[in-house]
Amino acid sequence: MKRAVIVGAGIAGLATALRLTQDGWHTLVVERAPARRSGGYLVNLLGGGYDAAERLGLVPALSDRALGLFTTVLVRADGRPKLTVPSAVAEAALGPRTMTVFRGDLETALYEAVRGHVEIRFGVTVSSVDQDADRVGIGLSDGTIEDADLLIGADGVHSATRTAMFGPDHRIDLPYVVAAFPLAHPVAAVRESSATTFIGPGRTAAVVNLGPQRSSAFFAYRCADPGRELERGPVDALRAAFGDLAAGVPEAIGQLEPDPSGVFFDRVSQVDMPRWSTGRTVLLGDAAWCVTLFAGHGAALALAGADRLGTALQRHGDDVSSALAEWETGLRPEVVKRQALARRGMYQYAPPSRFHVWMNDVTIRAITLPGVRGLIRRGIERQNR
Ligand SMILES: Cc1cc2nc3c(=O)[nH]c(=O)nc-3n(C[C@H](O)[C@H](O)[C@H](O)COP(=O)(O)OP(=O)(O)OC[C@H]3O[C@@H](n4cnc5c(N)ncnc54)[C@H](O)[C@@H]3O)c2cc1C
Repeated sequence: MKRAVIVGAGIAGLATALRLTQDGWHTLVVERAPARRSGGYLVNLLGGGYDAAERLGLVPALSDRALGLFTTVLVRADGRPKLTVPSAVAEAALGPRTMTVFRGDLETALYEAVRGHVEIRFGVTVSSVDQDADRVGIGLSDGTIEDADLLIGADGVHSATRTAMFGPDHRIDLPYVVAAFPLAHPVAAVRESSATTFIGPGRTAAVVNLGPQRSSAFFAYRCADPGRELERGPVDALRAAFGDLAAGVPEAIGQLEPDPSGVFFDRVSQVDMPRWSTGRTVLLGDAAWCVTLFAGHGAALALAGADRLGTALQRHGDDVSSALAEWETGLRPEVVKRQALARRGMYQYAPPSRFHVWMNDVTIRAITLPGVRGLIRRGIERQNR
């Protein structure tokens, strides 16, 4: 039986474990955190990500938790509505093969699918790697040594596998910080089944009210020193950057105060690597190609990458090197496209000036016009092909 050690029990790691186990591999997942990490905000599954979720058998479990589409109200800083985008616009634009779920629900669907089939060791990481043409020996922090056919680094944007095996210089830090978290209680200032979104120069705040256990908040802002913001912690940093806004924003930030541990709060980085594998070590997900949260495709690409890696390994049998080369050649154009779109997305989430905010408003107003929806949908379909 072929053996793989997977570093990281995030979306990419669990999806890879699921796919390889379905193909008859023995997989061991090591996760540095002491327990599951089910936090996060909304993730979109569309295009290749939706196809992969379907092939991996996740769609029934996810359909139960899918959030559906909602009305978005664009607001001014004082909370007064500026423009309403009905849910029908998103529906017309995205089409039927799409799903929005909490990252935590995706993590749970994956975890439930691998439970009992895959060994997951929490609080454990990799301490040494020794590979040759036929095998890879992996020393773990729990003192054991694993012998495997493949080592898969799915340890996220700050990947230690990447640094150890490919060097330190592949992460591009951008001058933005994001925070995203589920809300314990819906915020009263936001009508049910809708989101209020404020977009101003250099920042976005969105508060979504889809009822209890289904509401969330999202913040993105440009800043000179993201490291300093992270040191301040999410509550102080968000209050300083968004404290002047109305429309439910102070209440949403206030919900973090008792326990900020469930928040995704990080600098925005992309990962750009000339190759995703070396020998029998391969990177997958954010570790290899982080597109940023601005792309809205991190989880979808992680699922697609895991599923397609399984297909390539199946096709090439013992020829791991050909499998990895074919996998990377097939996936890379999609990643390059998403990274480029994400860089443009920064202008939407953190417009550089009032003029750019105004241009965004004009664009959003245009997409609410019935005749334009079909065009947008065809554009999105082309992007997802
Ligand atoms: C708690 C959390 C919340 C998130 N929230 C959002 C969100 O709201 N919106 C969004 O778009 N994206 C979010 N992300 C990122 C998103 O999950 C990824 O962009 C995408 O799903 C690709 O997943 P990934 O598995 O490559 O990375 P991740 O989901 O980041 O998973 C990487 C995993 O590797 C583990 N790990 C890291 N280093 C090591 C190590 N040295 N040894 C062992 N394990 C290690 C981490 O603890 C983590 O569990 C979040 C990530 C996390 C971990």
